[in-house]
Amino acid sequence: MNDSTPKSSLVHVEKLKKSFGTLTVLDGIDLDVAQGEVLAIIGPSGSGKSTLLRCINFLETPDEGRIRLAGVEIDAGRHPGQRQILELRRLAGMVFQSFNLFPHMTVLENISLAQKRVLTRSQSEADGRSMELLERVGLAAKAKEYPHRCSGGQQQRIAIARALALNPKVMLFDEPTSALDPELGLEVLSVMRELAQDGMTMIVVTHEMHFAESVSDHVMIMADGRIIEYGPSAEIMRNPQSARAQRFLNAVR
Ligand code: ADP
Ligand code: MG
Repeated sequence: MNDSTPKSSLVHVEKLKKSFGTLTVLDGIDLDVAQGEVLAIIGPSGSGKSTLLRCINFLETPDEGRIRLAGVEIDAGRHPGQRQILELRRLAGMVFQSFNLFPHMTVLENISLAQKRVLTRSQSEADGRSMELLERVGLAAKAKEYPHRCSGGQQQRIAIARALALNPKVMLFDEPTSALDPELGLEVLSVMRELAQDGMTMIVVTHEMHFAESVSDHVMIMADGRIIEYGPSAEIMRNPQSARAQRFLNAVR
């Protein structure tokens, strides 16, 4: 462990680089997220936000750099093995813009499946935990329904419950409300706000400026694969220092 890293840092990313062909998408990203902290990542489309999230749990393989998540450390340059990657991935729950629920399974089955496969929980154990989580996101009544009978906002809340079912140390959200009507987005944001209040560590790529300002502890603005601004939410949102960040915030507000 590196002495310069804050002891409380749950997620540590160091000198992360990723290119697709000749296109450099992440150009040396460093970040730390403390236990219980919410980090919002904002920035123009194409700036590398999704790629960063996907690199953190190795859905995308970084070219260079190091990631440490709750004690599991991976150096991308050293060709990490599959076992190490799976270990890292289990610590991070991911929620995407598209909910990706299995259409042929009930809501309950959607949430129980990975618990049985990954955590080898029994059916009844898994279902018990799934019901707890459905209560938490306000959807216990939907347990026996199929996903297509649920609204987009409900499906996204189910996807959140499914990610939580594996007891992740950190939740990664990639624009979880951008496919939803504003009203349905609000119910998802409210579940996320409660999660944050309960102390979940979260990294949230979002275009919801109000969420970034009011829920997150820190805000990071990306442009062209770099961090152009980082700091306490209120400060960054109200007083961005760089002209590039000011331009971006003016355009989206
Ligand atoms: P953001 O989420 O900020 O909109 P992305 O991380 O999705 O940005 O994409 C950053 C850049 O990388 C874009 O130019 C995008 O086209 C490119 N990119 C992302 N994924 C791939 C891929 N799998 N192959 C090639 N280019 C990609
Ligand atoms: Mg994206």
